Order: sequence, then structure tokens, then C-alpha cells
Amino acid sequence: MALPTYSHSGRMGLASLLIGPAAGLASGVLLAVIYQYAVYFIPFIYVNFLLTLALGAGIGFAAGFALKLGKCRNGAIAQLIGAACGVCAIAASHVVNHRIVLADVQKELAAQGMSASEVEGAFDFGTFLDMRAESGWKIGNKVSGVPISGPFVWLIWLIELGAVAGAAGVLAKMQLNQPFCESCDQWAAREPVGSLTPAAFTPLKTAIDRGDMAAIITPSRDPKSDKTANFTLHRCPSCGKSTYLSCKVTYKAIEKGKATEKSEDVFDFVAIDDGQIDTLKQSLAGAQREPLPKMAPAIKKPLPGKPTPVAAIKPTPPRRPPQQS
Ligand SMILES: [Zn+2]
Repeated sequence: MALPTYSHSGRMGLASLLIGPAAGLASGVLLAVIYQYAVYFIPFIYVNFLLTLALGAGIGFAAGFALKLGKCRNGAIAQLIGAACGVCAIAASHVVNHRIVLADVQKELAAQGMSASEVEGAFDFGTFLDMRAESGWKIGNKVSGVPISGPFVWLIWLIELGAVAGAAGVLAKMQLNQPFCESCDQWAAREPVGSLTPAAFTPLKTAIDRGDMAAIITPSRDPKSDKTANFTLHRCPSCGKSTYLSCKVTYKAIEKGKATEKSEDVFDFVAIDDGQIDTLKQSLAGAQREPLPKMAPAIKKPLPGKPTPVAAIKPTPPRRPPQQS
């Protein structure tokens, strides 16, 4: 049987439903205006797309931060709120754009005797969008680039909307990725437990599914491994209960000829008690003192420029066969 892990109760404070959307909308409108100016002045579509994702991420971060402050424990609602704030921000940015252009047109036509309200009547929001879609823009070079207009502009607007809503939703939900103590009504606090190098990866990775707590609290070392396992405890600061353990590995990989530090989540929030925490702490301390288990053939040194050496190392098989449940 798989080991029990933490999952949100789905509850949320009323406060989170007020401040979450408020923070998402406020940051969204502000960031969207900055975004419109940035996209206007930077004519590179790839940079523009990164800006689009950054806009969504900013909105999601703000909404998620406020939702967490308001004790929201519902990932689906958080994602929905983040995405909705993203849609509102994009809509607001088009409205702001319309007002800026309208002000210019009103100034120009005032000289010909047209009043501001007459111009506004003739150049409403819908007309503005149609006009922008018709005039379109060019991908790549301003002169020789591929012209885009009409339905393609609407399509790109739709992709932009989807990217912002998607990024904002995911980021908002991610902020809540922390256990919550329902009896004390507060978030658990993180505390590092220790690390193990070189850690046998597969036994840890498969421990939850195999229901193998021993593999987690007495993790083994593997001389062929290049990974460090880092254990983090999530514990309620008030009652000291509601304790959960997470594990992440870090390792070095060669990417584009450069050594970069990489990390990967191994498991999140497995329920653990005080005795098991002590066992884990002792085995982490003990493992570092013991000599490494004998290693068969040496790892072949990767040639410079070859892709990541990690994939070349075969993971060790699990120590026990999977248990029948
Ligand atoms: Zn508690």
C-alpha cells in the first residue's frame, strides 16, 4: 500500500476570496499597462512571448501570495482565480490601449472641429479592436517581414490570453504548495533535516508507491550516483504535529558545455512521525561517517561537449521487489 501523503482539505478562508482576486487584479492591471508599452517598443516576437509569460507569472505570483495569506487550501480555486485575473488584465490592457489611441485621435480631430464625445462615439472599443486587427503587424523585419492581419491577429491575441491565463493560474496554485495544519489553522513551517551524498535515487523515488518507509528514513548511498538527496520537514509551528517530509535531489549536469546545478523533486509531503524523523536524522549522520559501499567499475568520464552524463548512469534497481497490495 502506498504511503500516506498530505493533500489540501479544499477549505479556504473568506479573506482569501477577497484579497486573492484583489491582489491579482491590482497587479494585473498595473503589469498589463507596463506590458503593453514593453511589447509596443520591443519588436521581437520571441521576446514578446517571454514578456507575455512573465506577465502571467507576475499576476499568478501576486494572487497566490494573497491567497496563501488568506489561508486558501484549494488549488483548483486558486488556479481559477489566477487565470481569471490574467484574463481581466489582458482585457484591461486593451482598454487602456484604446484610451491612449482615442486621446490621440481626439486631439487630432479637435483641430477639425470635432468634439471629444463625437470622436468617442465613432471610435468605440469594438471599432478600435477591428482596426488594430486589420492593420496588424509584421513578424521579423519591419519591411520584409511576414505581415499578419485580420483573423491571425485575433488568433495571436487568443494565444496571448491563453498564455497569460495559464501562467497566472499555475503560479497562483504553486504558491499554495505547502501543508496546512487544520487543527491550528496555520501553514506548516519548513525546516531542513539533512542531506545524503551520493544518494541512491531509485529507492527514494519509488518508496511512496511501494509503501516502503524504511527506504525513506534509512536512505542508502550509491557510489555510482552523482546525486545529493536533501530532506525537508514541514511541521506545524504551534502543535508540532502535522509533520510531512519532502525530498529533492540536486546534481550537476553539463548543458551547452557548462556545468549547471540541477534539482528534481523526488517526493513531497509524506506523513512522518517523531520517531521516524529521529531515525532519518541518525541514519543521515551515520551514513556520512561510514565508508562508501564498494563500487564496481568506475563511471566513464563523459567527453567534453557530450550531453548530460546523468542519463548515462543506470539507476540501481529497488532493494526489494514491489509489495503486493
Ligand atoms: Zn498544528
